[in-house]
Amino acid sequence: MADDLYDVVVVGAGVSGCAVARELSRLRARVCVVDREEDVCCGTSKANSAIVHAGFDAQTGTLMAKFNVEGNERMWKLAQDLDFKVRRCGSLVVCTSEEDLPGLEALLERGRANGVPDLRIVDREELVAMEPHISDLAVAALWAPTAGIVDAFGLNIALAENAAQNGVEFRFNALVNGIHRVEEDWELLLANGQSIRTRCVVNAAGVFADAIHNMVSEHKIRIIPRKGEYLLLDTTAGDHVQHTIFMLPSVMGKGILVSPTVHGNLLVGPTATDVDDPESTDTTSDGLREVAEKCALTVADVPLREVITSFAGLRAHQPDHEFIIGEIEDAPGFVDCAAIESPGLTSCPAIGVYVTDIVRNLLSLEEKDADKWIGTRTGIPSLEGAPVSYWAELAQQDPAYGNVICRCRHVTEAQILAAIHRPLGARSLDGVKRRVTAGMGRCQGGFCSPKVMEILERELGLGPEEVTKCGPGSELIVERGEAQ
Ligand SMILES: Cc1cc2nc3c(=O)[nH]c(=O)nc-3n(C[C@H](O)[C@H](O)[C@H](O)COP(=O)(O)OP(=O)(O)OC[C@H]3O[C@@H](n4cnc5c(N)ncnc54)[C@H](O)[C@@H]3O)c2cc1C
Repeated sequence: MADDLYDVVVVGAGVSGCAVARELSRLRARVCVVDREEDVCCGTSKANSAIVHAGFDAQTGTLMAKFNVEGNERMWKLAQDLDFKVRRCGSLVVCTSEEDLPGLEALLERGRANGVPDLRIVDREELVAMEPHISDLAVAALWAPTAGIVDAFGLNIALAENAAQNGVEFRFNALVNGIHRVEEDWELLLANGQSIRTRCVVNAAGVFADAIHNMVSEHKIRIIPRKGEYLLLDTTAGDHVQHTIFMLPSVMGKGILVSPTVHGNLLVGPTATDVDDPESTDTTSDGLREVAEKCALTVADVPLREVITSFAGLRAHQPDHEFIIGEIEDAPGFVDCAAIESPGLTSCPAIGVYVTDIVRNLLSLEEKDADKWIGTRTGIPSLEGAPVSYWAELAQQDPAYGNVICRCRHVTEAQILAAIHRPLGARSLDGVKRRVTAGMGRCQGGFCSPKVMEILERELGLGPEEVTKCGPGSELIVERGEAQ
């Protein structure tokens, strides 16, 4: 057996791959996660609605329905163990015409069949009491108190950090562009010229999971990137609604939602448009106009002048609208975790456990001794809203807490240093942003980016031209000119 043989290589460091990696880290196994990007959470996991869905949407009996409900149940304990932000704010699916009430009833019945607890339909009077800004068109809503919102970056990073704490290796800037059998094992060829040999592969490559699957199987799959565009509003608009407000869903998805976020913003979107390019995450004027117009159907007076940015994410949609999870029949030892479209974020804690069971059985892996596995992790504390006396106390212990770098989100140098020097620490501006929110505020990094760049330069020993926004190819300073 080769010295460099892994038991499992997970392709993809989004929430699916990292949830699997964290569960695998409970086992006596050599595990590596590879990702084409420079950091975790650079694919769909970074650009979505960040809702912990209750579980009434997916067809009863599907993996989607099962993992949604199980994932929701697991999410709250996971958030405690791994210290990322969640809020159980509940969701309302708003019906805007009497004619559509049977659709709302059907959703209620499906939710109950899926095992979602405490669902009920609220009438207009109750709805207005819950949401004073609900639209005049609203006649009733499906109330799901178990739904919530999550810090999607925080979830992804926490899973990855905890997996790393437990011995999982990570390789970034590692694009897998070929896979073939070598005896009983798999060899993954990387675009950087390296190769990795492993007994088992888990394919969690998001919108590229079809490309990875199709490298090893005669039974081809097809992922259709389905774009969703959003508007993000400032924290001044964050309490315009208290719950996640959905429209009645259609075949293209759950419609335009209006939701608070765990960071105090208001999120409006997404659209649903099938695109050819799995890297097409640009926003369009048509898409954003649709978001701005349709949100008024469910919520009145959304303060759109408070928009601070727009973004788009890509759902890994497949024609059967079902997760593809399991060992590939004609590729023993190769496990798909593919077509993980919404509710993939919610489902990831359950998917991690399920995929790990498959791998454990395939390779006959044993659990580590209980004292060899660390089940908790502490995040970087946020200082937003903390009393000044607390800041002062921290700054006395460590002056870096007295140096505010991001004024919009109140992020200090101490937190940025923590983001850089943790396991799998930030290497870029976006890496810092995802970990401590510096640059996520009203000015979108206009003030703090140069300061964060200086800190990255100093702490990582980089030249100014080497600091990037999000990895190779996104350098921010091209060349230094002479002062005139
Ligand atoms: C608009 C939108 C809204 C959504 N809203 C919600 C929601 O509110 N709630 C919810 O539960 N879910 C939601 N989802 C779904 C959720 O975001 C996804 O299911 C989830 O993020 C998928 O995670 P993943 O790890 O499977 O994929 P990704 O996060 O895309 O990770 C895949 C990783 O694989 C890497 N990769 C790809 N190809 C290669 C290769 N060849 N070599 C190496 N690495 C590779 C990529 O770089 C990427 O990091 C939404 C999705 C979208 C697009």
